[in-house]
Amino acid sequence: MLRKKQKLDDQNEPSPAPAAGEFTLSRFANTPKPKLTHASHLTSKIVTVAEGQPQEVDKSDAQEVANGSTEPYWQQVYRIELKLSADLRNVSLPDEVAACYDPIAYADEIHRAYMDRFLDGPKHVLFIGMNPGPWGMCQTGVPFGYVPAVRDWMGLRGTVQKPEGELSVRPVEGLSCTREEQSGKRWWGLFEELCGNPESFFRSCFVYNLCPLAFFHKSGRNVTPSELKSKAKGEIQTIAEKYLAAALQVLQPKIIISVGRYTEDRVKALVKQNKLDATVIRTLCIPHPSPRSLNNTNWNEKAKRWLEDNDALQQARLANDLKEVPVGCVFVYGPNEGDGVIIARGCNLVNETKNATRHVEFICIDQALEYARAHGFEPPESIFTSISVVVTVEPCIMCAAALLNLGVREIVYGCRNDRFGGSTVLDVARLLKSNIPIRGGVRGDEAMELLKEFYKGENPSAPMPKARTSKKASG
Ligand SMILES: [Zn+2]
Repeated sequence: MLRKKQKLDDQNEPSPAPAAGEFTLSRFANTPKPKLTHASHLTSKIVTVAEGQPQEVDKSDAQEVANGSTEPYWQQVYRIELKLSADLRNVSLPDEVAACYDPIAYADEIHRAYMDRFLDGPKHVLFIGMNPGPWGMCQTGVPFGYVPAVRDWMGLRGTVQKPEGELSVRPVEGLSCTREEQSGKRWWGLFEELCGNPESFFRSCFVYNLCPLAFFHKSGRNVTPSELKSKAKGEIQTIAEKYLAAALQVLQPKIIISVGRYTEDRVKALVKQNKLDATVIRTLCIPHPSPRSLNNTNWNEKAKRWLEDNDALQQARLANDLKEVPVGCVFVYGPNEGDGVIIARGCNLVNETKNATRHVEFICIDQALEYARAHGFEPPESIFTSISVVVTVEPCIMCAAALLNLGVREIVYGCRNDRFGGSTVLDVARLLKSNIPIRGGVRGDEAMELLKEFYKGENPSAPMPKARTSKKASG
């Protein structure tokens, strides 16, 4: 499974292999914090440029809050969790489930302290766990909440109430619980070993649970969401996916790391439904630390090796804060002209990925192929004949050639690319004897303003353009 996932990622993210030894594990937790400034500014502009095209923009209320209120950041995520937990509690559970614990409710003091202290803004890397374990989060309200890790390492305190319908075989004793949660001990033990203090871990990482509820058989056996019987299982999956999408809108991770297969499948479902933002660079899956998983006695070694292997790739990708030349692009898919949906969107990831070929058109081509595979296009490339490409800046020679070869329906761009334009500098269409229409100058002034604003010194790693107003966007 893991190998398959890796392969999929490799297909989507072709990039040069980083030199051996160019990373360290400690750097894993010290990647710089993403800043909202440029990316969000860019996203809104992309939408503006694409105005008039039919699109599916999912504006969740979480995002609205993110854009306008002074509410502490963590509370935006917390509100989503509360709604999630309320919806989940409405699911009628099979008879085998004798109790359902909601630690976000009865352990809310520590849970909120965890969020307040460690969730101060978007995180580069988001780990997603499945649901609370009986001696971990059920006691402390913290994902993988092994008591010593929560109390002594993170230094969190708080009163823990009793859950409704508490089972005597599954008592909740809060921070005075002496039973050890093996998964949590392994999980936080590893990051304590790698990062030292919690601040270095949480600077760019966060751990979030897909489902905040724990389910127990009357014998006390922990019934995970993946083990529930069909109807409840399906309902819980649907609800969990819906709120995961909402939480991701706020958390804005660049890298999503599922902990275990069940969570990975939920993330994959979001990819399939095209609900992940284009700013997500990678989705990965780390083996679950549970001793219940097969052959998992050496999880610590396995996880370290996994982090090392993937850290190397991450270093090549994470690099710096998003500081890209603001070229935004959307692919509009519509078998009939005039009705279409946006199936791919993004901005350049050249600096982010340290890969000079990650122009936005290629990011979108990957997304379109993913969409085509998920929707059964055979061959996947056949989708391109129904795609209109809308991009703020004239595609460069490389991208124009790729798009024309793929046979897109049309290319519409904003301002001219005076140096590398695949239409105005070198007429690639003529070279390839293609009669695919390429139309420029659509809201070109706005696109040019965007570029100028950007080059006023916001991007230290971008080449400085020559300020030649005479060559301003024409058509
Ligand atoms: Zn290009």
